[in-house]
Order: sequence, then C-alpha cells, then structure tokens
Amino acid sequence: MRRALSVASTSPQDVPVGAIILGPDGTELAAAGNERELTGDPTAHAEVLALRRAAASVGEWRLEGCTLVVTLEPCTMCAGALVLARISTLVFGAWEPKTGAVGSLWDVVRDRRLNHQPEVYAGVLEDECARLLRGFFR
Ligand SMILES: [Zn+2]
Repeated sequence: MRRALSVASTSPQDVPVGAIILGPDGTELAAAGNERELTGDPTAHAEVLALRRAAASVGEWRLEGCTLVVTLEPCTMCAGALVLARISTLVFGAWEPKTGAVGSLWDVVRDRRLNHQPEVYAGVLEDECARLLRGFFR
C-alpha cells in the first residue's frame, strides 16, 4: 500500500489514486496513478491502467494469482475490470461512499452471479489514503 500511495500523485492535476499489481510471487508487474485529466480519457483510472500494464507485462489478460493494491475503493468500472481480469486478491485503502463498488454503493466483486470473486482486504492504511485525497480537495 505504501508503494501504491507513492504512485498516487504521478499526475498533479488528477485526483490522487494509486494502484499496483503484484504477481503470484509478489513481484510488482505494474504501477499506475489516475491519469484521467492528464490523458483526457474517462477510463484512465489507476486500476484500469495498472491492469492493462500488468496484462501487457505477462502477455495475457488473465491475471489469476495476482493482487491489485489500490489506495481508494474501486468504482463500478474498475471493480468490473478487475473481476474480468480474474484478479485473485484486492487490497484497498480508503472507502469511497459516493462511487465505491466494493461494498459502499454496490458490491460488484462479491456478486455471486459473476463467475469470479476475488478475496478482499479493505481499509489498509485507510487514514493515510484518505488524508492524501482530502489534501487534494482542500
Ligand atoms: Zn475506477
């Protein structure tokens, strides 16, 4: 999570959210910050960029056995993307009551109608992750 926090502010004009993906052996496959403003791409959330980079690094879309660590509770798009990528473990920091899709507004990652449910660890370094966001919006 400290590594995810360190990539959260790579684009100064974007909301600071950082994501990293670890392979089954714990090596880092990808890291990304939110780049929506930087690139003008509505899908350029940290999680989606990290998933794309990790898939490119391993050479396939299935990221079974991998762990996604992100500083903020994923939205519906990112929760859907990480389920599609078959991420095995999701770790997130701060809760996002307005758009969160891992328990706050929806619970996409634990929906039994989908064919894959990652293991979830919520609230890791929650205070630090939330403080970074509060600092941005002040
Ligand atoms: Zn998202």
